[in-house]
Amino acid sequence: MSSYTQESAVTVLGLGPMGRALAGTFLDAGLRTTVWNRTPGKDRELVERGAVGTVSAAEAVVASELIVVCVVNYDAADAILRHPDATAALKGRTVLNLTADVPDRARDSAVWAAEHGITYLDGAIMTPAVTIGTPGAVFLYSGPEETYQRHQSSLATLGGRHTHLGEEIGRAAAYDVALLDIFWTAMAGYAHALAVAQAEGITARELAPFAKGIGEILPPIFEDSAQEMAVGTFSGEGNPITSAVSSMAHIVHTSEQHGIDAGVMRAAEGQARRVIGLGHGADGFIRVADVLARQALAGNAGQAAE
Ligand code: NDP
Repeated sequence: MSSYTQESAVTVLGLGPMGRALAGTFLDAGLRTTVWNRTPGKDRELVERGAVGTVSAAEAVVASELIVVCVVNYDAADAILRHPDATAALKGRTVLNLTADVPDRARDSAVWAAEHGITYLDGAIMTPAVTIGTPGAVFLYSGPEETYQRHQSSLATLGGRHTHLGEEIGRAAAYDVALLDIFWTAMAGYAHALAVAQAEGITARELAPFAKGIGEILPPIFEDSAQEMAVGTFSGEGNPITSAVSSMAHIVHTSEQHGIDAGVMRAAEGQARRVIGLGHGADGFIRVADVLARQALAGNAGQAAE
């Protein structure tokens, strides 16, 4: 008889780079790991290492109490989970959806799951697939605390830091979107910077050590800015937003001189100039966040009043 229990068994649906990393790490930790992927063949290496391969999502679901889904987006997750056979098999089990998407999709999935007798936990992975199983992995969760606690020991085998953000199901996706906003805006900036540097005869390798230095400036600025947002002070002492727009204008000028599209920086400069126009020129750059948030509130209130 197998020594495995439902508590030490996990099913992984979706075997892209992240799904494979998750399944492989569960396997390494000794959990009975059942896998399925829409396109056959992606489970080969995992099966060779001891995973149970299946021919349908429904077959994979019945093998475990905990079902981890990790596919490209919620359209894909829905295509799997809302197939009638899979939905029927999921009844009474727990879905942990580690697929990235927007908060409203997580909320919609929680409603759907409740209607079908499925326990639902949402999650987000904030680090690359190579970090899974290492101390560098970062996982965020939201949904029923009791469900998270029940599966915590299985999830801990994935290594790294695990944070339950609260019962509101959309919270993990909301953190994910906000954090990826930082990441992709920074990556857009870096890609653009490499093009501008190249136009000026500077290679990517030459720029890289200095680019790293710019990255290192950011963490204390993030901390200070969070404090300023929290208390509502936006001191521009040392670096007022009027100085920031001057620097941004130099980037736009140099880019466009070389025929390089400066749309992203133009948009950022425009936001900062609007903040100055509202009388906040002596404030620091992070006043932009406050103004954007207040404008959104005012817009929503206006719509509600219409
Ligand atoms: P992808 O985002 O490329 O997703 C690939 C997986 O989605 C495959 O299993 C693929 O199946 C499946 N899929 C796509 N469309 C469908 C569909 N219509 N029906 C069923 N399955 C479908 O790969 P990753 O594994 O990298 O990412 C998975 C999730 O993890 C994403 O939400 C991503 O944002 C997130 N993530 C990934 C990180 C990474 O480093 N890779 C880092 C942090 C988060 P098939 O093989 O059949 O095409």
